[in-house]
Amino acid sequence: MGAHIGTEETDGSGAARAARRDEAVRAAVDQGLLGPDSPVVALLDVTGIRESAAALRAAFEAVTAPGTAVLHAFAVKATPLVPVLRLLREEGIGAEVASPGELALARAAGVPAEMTVLDSPAKTPAELREALDLGIAVNADNPQELTRLDALMRSATSRSPIGIRVNPQLGAGSIEALSTATATSKFGVALRDEGAREWVVRAYLDRPWLTRLHAHTGSQGVPLSLMVRGAAETYALAEEINRRAGRRQVDTLDIGGGLPVNFASEATTPTYAQYARMLAGEVPGLFGGRYGLVTEFGRSLLAEHGTVVARVEYAKRSGGRAVAVTHAGVQVAARTVYAPQNWPLRIAAYDAKGRPKEGPVVVQDVAGPACFAGDLLAEGRSMPLLEQGDYAAALDTGAYYFAHHYAYNSLARPGVYGFWPGGRFAVVREAQTVREVVAESGGAQVDALT
Ligand SMILES: *Cc1c(COP(=O)(O)O)cnc(C)c1O
Repeated sequence: MGAHIGTEETDGSGAARAARRDEAVRAAVDQGLLGPDSPVVALLDVTGIRESAAALRAAFEAVTAPGTAVLHAFAVKATPLVPVLRLLREEGIGAEVASPGELALARAAGVPAEMTVLDSPAKTPAELREALDLGIAVNADNPQELTRLDALMRSATSRSPIGIRVNPQLGAGSIEALSTATATSKFGVALRDEGAREWVVRAYLDRPWLTRLHAHTGSQGVPLSLMVRGAAETYALAEEINRRAGRRQVDTLDIGGGLPVNFASEATTPTYAQYARMLAGEVPGLFGGRYGLVTEFGRSLLAEHGTVVARVEYAKRSGGRAVAVTHAGVQVAARTVYAPQNWPLRIAAYDAKGRPKEGPVVVQDVAGPACFAGDLLAEGRSMPLLEQGDYAAALDTGAYYFAHHYAYNSLARPGVYGFWPGGRFAVVREAQTVREVVAESGGAQVDALT
């Protein structure tokens, strides 16, 4: 296996994506975006993002009754970059936000209120009031939040569709920290707790303005079958509420996001189409046209389309092991560095000109620049030997990686560039300057403690 990782086993779109990425790395070196003085950048494949957005739309269009209202709201936390939100908005995709910052990003990108959903587990009264003023959808996390909404709804009228988030308590996937549907999860109203289901039903019967129902049970490591059961439970609860209300009070089901991503090869699996077909098979009522639908995918829309590329500053040997010391580590890949078993990343090797590296495979570590021993992008990886001046690329890092900077060692945020075929780039986020690092580290308060 060379630097063209896994191309043998991919479908056409995976091979095309790898080819676009190789071309972009080469062009980034040629054009000086990457080099000795700019040793780490992040790249976003605009073509690929559009393809994933189109695949998401098509997957649900194929299974929903004509005329069904479907809102795909991108989970902003996955890639909180305004130009990305704008691109997705152009593709007909809205925003799922979970903090004042994320809401501000969505608004800066021009995502309209009716395409925005607020879901955080810790909303302040001010945040709730703002959401209702703007008319964005809100999913209440718990009874205390519903009490706050009661007070707000008494004093104001709002266009906001409002729902309750429930947790069907179906169990965990393979990554405990990302499993939202465990018995003791912090999210939503735990449906199987004693009396909880009846409480939820009563909450709806008492509040005619509750018209949505929300569950987000998927995430990386969660099998599709469990996600489908989460949707089935949500649907069954909506049917029960509507039966007891004697009307179609719940008119929209929000099934969350959480489609896992394949980090092991270029193949996109599972696909949106597979998930949508499985949902349609197991929960046909979801798509019959009686409910509008909201989805909240994050990782699966962006992960495959991002790449961090870092220069090999030094290549050394330690205890017989080859170690490439690069400029990408914990600051751009915190999850992989701190939990390497759960978050292995593919690393592609490029030479000093940005061409895919060939040559015999050598077992090596790919290290980052931070001053702690565990700062490794990959440990004991077999790949063509990385040498000084080469480039190492961490693949599938478009979501929850470089856009989630971790300021260890005061390492600056790298620049993010969108790319198109033909070597065209656009700045998505400027690289952070050292002056900005000082400013955000209390530079203006230099005398505060003396
Ligand atoms: C994180 C999150 C999502 C997106 O999850 P992905 O795994 O990135 O698709 C959607 N909805 C809610 C409520 C979330 O917390």
